[in-house]
Amino acid sequence: MINDDKTYKSLPDVSESYWINSISLPSFPKLNSDITVDVVIIGGGITGLTTAFLLAKKGFKIALLESDRLLNGTTGHTTAKITAQHGLIYHQLIKNIGIEQAKLYYQANLDALNFIRETIDHFEIDCEYSDQDAWVYAVTKKDQEKIEQEAKAYNDLGIKGTLVDSTPLDITVNNALIMKDQAQFHPLKYLKPLVDQVTKMGGQIFEKTTAVDIKKGKQPVVLTRDQEKVTANHVIICSHFPFYEGFGLYSAKMYVERSYAIVAKTNKKIPAGLFINANSPTRSLRKVSINGEEMALIVGENHKTGQGIDTIKHYQALESFGQTILDIDSIKYRWSAQDLTTLDQIPYIGRITSGNPNILIATGYRKWGITNGTAASLLLADLVNDESNKYEELFKPSRFNPIPSIKNLVVQNQEAIRCDHHVYSIYDYVLKYKKP
Ligand SMILES: Cc1cc2nc3c(=O)[nH]c(=O)nc-3n(C[C@H](O)[C@H](O)[C@H](O)COP(=O)(O)OP(=O)(O)OC[C@H]3O[C@@H](n4cnc5c(N)ncnc54)[C@H](O)[C@@H]3O)c2cc1C
Repeated sequence: MINDDKTYKSLPDVSESYWINSISLPSFPKLNSDITVDVVIIGGGITGLTTAFLLAKKGFKIALLESDRLLNGTTGHTTAKITAQHGLIYHQLIKNIGIEQAKLYYQANLDALNFIRETIDHFEIDCEYSDQDAWVYAVTKKDQEKIEQEAKAYNDLGIKGTLVDSTPLDITVNNALIMKDQAQFHPLKYLKPLVDQVTKMGGQIFEKTTAVDIKKGKQPVVLTRDQEKVTANHVIICSHFPFYEGFGLYSAKMYVERSYAIVAKTNKKIPAGLFINANSPTRSLRKVSINGEEMALIVGENHKTGQGIDTIKHYQALESFGQTILDIDSIKYRWSAQDLTTLDQIPYIGRITSGNPNILIATGYRKWGITNGTAASLLLADLVNDESNKYEELFKPSRFNPIPSIKNLVVQNQEAIRCDHHVYSIYDYVLKYKKP
């Protein structure tokens, strides 16, 4: 056990996710020949697996390639809140993209929550699902105002929300905003039956199979590290960070943040609800039941990847928070993971570029990929099946929303792009080439 300061509890020696440790998943072979399918999906997280399930259900012959083991990526290291309350976002969305588009963002995430609920009901999935209210709270005057603005945004968008001046947590808050009827679950217990459904419907899954390139064309070909080829009518990239960018500039249009998690046994009772603070660094909290015992899952301390302090300090900061409000007895699990945020905070879901309609992508969920990833799967399945989907424009990867924060992000990223014999800042590039 690690304990570099005697005022802190011991941390587990090994970084290990409770979700992964509490389930046994089937294993799948490595791809060892060339194959041809209707759709090849890259990545076995919530996005890839839900997409595989939906497309197999629509009758497509699918193959899913996973470089490691299924569900060992971000989905295996999440907090697993299922909610359309994505911290504070709706006031900002209204400002950036207007009421109608902001409403669509909410509806897409609500549809995703309802899809998860219906899937659990339909297959009677035992995945520790429970309905919960989601709370975002302020502990400073400045954040109090932000929450008031967010409450007004809820009102403008028709979101059921309640502005209150206290929470069930043992913490003094200025105010808080509740989004009712949200949920939580064990993400891997939810997804395992979907894996079973995919294989039952004839879908092929390959693990330890890394996609390294795509040969574009009428029938694109995915090349694997071991030189196997998968030919398909559509390629869907659900690899979290896109392994292939085409001309979509995804690495320049997103930033990566690492977050930390601990699961702690506490001496105080943990209230029901999904909690998150409005300020930075993030403190996100929900309870989990482990062998019949309730424990606190505390997540946060996000920082841009590569810019963190000593890892132990991040875990200790989460522990201090838990200690103050719940009196921590011991820490059972610790882990960390990364997620991606786009320039305008809205995921990129759809055709990788308008010139490549049969290569699709889903990424940039801003740490809200349980609903955004499910919304992505619903949209991708419609696009492949040539069905219309009202969220296509909102999530279109080639969109350009000229918001002021883009410039800041670009300055932070300090990236430059070489194109047409010029070197552009990303901001100038995006302005110049709005429609790649
Ligand atoms: C700490 C933390 C807490 C979070 N909490 C929440 C929450 O409470 N609610 C919420 O909605 N969201 C939350 N999120 C976000 C959410 O968990 C993620 O956005 C979501 O799980 C991403 O799913 P995915 O399928 O896109 O990616 P992943 O789960 O990462 O899956 C991608 C898969 O692709 C594979 N892969 C990568 N490259 C290749 C390749 N070249 N070839 C083949 N396979 C490849 C990877 O091995 C991986 O298995 C959280 C994120 C973090 C980091």
